[in-house]
Amino acid sequence: MKKTIFIAAALTILSVSLFAKTQIIAHRGYWNQPGSARNTISSLKNAQTLGVYGSELDVHITADNQVIVCHDDSIQHHDINSSTYAELKDLRLENGEVVPTLDAYLEQAQKNTKTKLIIEIKYKKDAELEKKTVRTVIDLVQKYKMEQHIEYISFSMNVCKELVKLTHNIPIAYLAYKDFLFTPEELKEIGVSGLDYHYALLLQKPEWIAEAKALGLTTNAWTVNDPDSIQKLIDLNVDFITTDEPLKATELLTTK
Ligand code: MG
Repeated sequence: MKKTIFIAAALTILSVSLFAKTQIIAHRGYWNQPGSARNTISSLKNAQTLGVYGSELDVHITADNQVIVCHDDSIQHHDINSSTYAELKDLRLENGEVVPTLDAYLEQAQKNTKTKLIIEIKYKKDAELEKKTVRTVIDLVQKYKMEQHIEYISFSMNVCKELVKLTHNIPIAYLAYKDFLFTPEELKEIGVSGLDYHYALLLQKPEWIAEAKALGLTTNAWTVNDPDSIQKLIDLNVDFITTDEPLKATELLTTK
């Protein structure tokens, strides 16, 4: 009898973990709102108000070691890596906000830690520049005591390996589209905690979601905006969906 109860309990735990709910990450924040723009403090505030799991952002470092939140390598033709912060700080984005620093993001993130910062450290051809960016970002996260409220992602395996070496118990997911793919087994061996792959790839290789889970890796699909694909990925039990439509994705989850 006891054995039966134990097996029933184990199966319940197993089914809960197998069917743990998919979580939503707002891609470059919840920017698709009046007055906001991608990778801005307002987009982070919107994501916090919506209460999603995470708000993604992209970071680069300036010539004088300020970490800037921006998707592209340059802002209004100013190359970020070769510019000083003084040269960039007054540039206005499309919605009138200034270019945010990672400091400003971490300060805003501290105000509502329900929504994690999903920090994408951008790929660079210069491996030393990547390493310097990683060290500077880690120092900033420590300064704001936000280690438990952030996660790292990167298309650069060099960045991922440096993060594995220098951090403890902070999620690190490797990003990929169709090239430079690593299997779940390879990622486990490297020591990252998850894969963050283009959604079309994961829909083509759904077995990688199950394989990753079996290895204890998290699975994240980017950037999924159409409801049919979002629903397919929810049905495949992916852990995270990164989307420009966090409200619609949340509604799909709650109406399931
Ligand atoms: Mg990104």
